[in-house]
Amino acid sequence: MTNQATTSAKNLTIFELSSPGRQGIRYPKPDVPKADIPQNFLRDKLPIPEISENEVVRHFTNLSQLNHNVDTGFYPLGSCTMKYNPKINEETARLPGFAQIHPFQPAETVQGALGLMYETQLLLAEISGFDAVSLQPAAGAHGELTGVLIIRAYHRSRDDTKRVKMLIPDSAHGTNPASSAMSGMEIIELASDERGNVNLEALKAECDDTLAGLMITNPNTLGLFDEHIEEVCQLVHDAGGLVYGDGANMNALLGIYQPAQAGIDVMHFNLHKTFATPHGGGGPGSGPVGVTAKLADFLPDPVVAITREATENTPSFYELVTPSQTIGRVKSFHGHFGVVVKAFTYILSLGKKGLREVAEHAVLNANYIQALIKDTYHIPYERLCMHEFVAEGCWKDAPGVIALDVAKRLMDFGIHPPTNYFPLIVHEALMIEPTETESKETLDIFANALLQIAEEAHNAPEKLHNAPVNTPFGRLDEVKAAKDLILRTQLPEGYGE
Ligand SMILES: *Cc1c(COP(=O)(O)O)cnc(C)c1O
Repeated sequence: MTNQATTSAKNLTIFELSSPGRQGIRYPKPDVPKADIPQNFLRDKLPIPEISENEVVRHFTNLSQLNHNVDTGFYPLGSCTMKYNPKINEETARLPGFAQIHPFQPAETVQGALGLMYETQLLLAEISGFDAVSLQPAAGAHGELTGVLIIRAYHRSRDDTKRVKMLIPDSAHGTNPASSAMSGMEIIELASDERGNVNLEALKAECDDTLAGLMITNPNTLGLFDEHIEEVCQLVHDAGGLVYGDGANMNALLGIYQPAQAGIDVMHFNLHKTFATPHGGGGPGSGPVGVTAKLADFLPDPVVAITREATENTPSFYELVTPSQTIGRVKSFHGHFGVVVKAFTYILSLGKKGLREVAEHAVLNANYIQALIKDTYHIPYERLCMHEFVAEGCWKDAPGVIALDVAKRLMDFGIHPPTNYFPLIVHEALMIEPTETESKETLDIFANALLQIAEEAHNAPEKLHNAPVNTPFGRLDEVKAAKDLILRTQLPEGYGE
């Protein structure tokens, strides 16, 4: 259902805007002889739209506005850290010395790029407390897969082959069981206790000699810091297992807490969440993995190392080296280098103090919203939260209203809905992560919108059921969208015949 008149040029496809003879660009006269293009390279049913330059600009600018985005509005999507990404990161990633090099160039011609990778490995190690870091994985879930393969390789290197069991708390991110299963692990779900921590009795019952490890998201998807994290790690270690930490939520911890200190053995970072690379449109992301010293030799191949220390007259020489017991390559070339440049820029421009402020503001902002709405929305695990919290999007005395309705109605306020129906352990979940980059004014507008929606849920529920009405498209038929996928532009009838 479209909310605007369908006759608006905004809703026309580029083929419908096309008119024979219109032109957007003028080609220079060719200064080489004409060549015949082999016929089999041409698709006869692929008409090129004919359209003027300003129509093209309008068309694509309008398209870019159909999606909500951080540059135009608040985006409190829980777990995803949709924070504002400083534009200076884009500028450094586009510097020709970084953007126009080739991964096959000899090391002596790309010392700057290798040096930046080396320094980023060190910075991430310092932030997290780990001893070694690989920048190779392409995203968070890929980092998880890499980390679990490292755990598997570690046990195998000790001929400890019966360790196949991976424990995953029910408050973990959904990618955790998926990446463990892909690594051939047997997955056991651990219940949470009533405060949202790992249930220690449930954990103890699984600690035996088939335990490969435990994957813990901390802060977990309830936005809560596990109050027994050190005890959890100790129990797993005592049973001979290793602890995987899902570090996608590091923006809650930066400069305050190093996961390695608690006993985590291996962890991935989400550079595209914590370290300010725009994401949400399908990448590229980057999911570096940090490990303690005893796992360093298992890291993916290659890592960057200094192979010749600096002397008075020569700088250090950086090279790609292969860790001795490597699990092998997990990504072509050296990972998503451009994202690493952005993270490096972000870390250096904030510095130690600035990174700590990121965490302080991420936590403060989430608690501020939680405090403003907690008398109106039920919060099942009500504790001081970290960078996010989970509320219920339903009320006993407002039958027929569900979390989806609250989420859709928020769009009418120009706000992206929170994550909903996740984590699964909260009924009608609304998972809210304001991030550290938002002002008090924005947080107040958001909280007021939520309070108004709660009132409407009770007094005018049709407003929620009909929402959104202020967006280019109204409520979509999500079942039809999933079952009847249309993945490319449909040419208008008779076009190009
Ligand atoms: C986003 C996220 C992931 C997965 O990261 P991707 O980069 O999307 O693969 C894993 N764990 C948590 C807690 C996350 O928020």
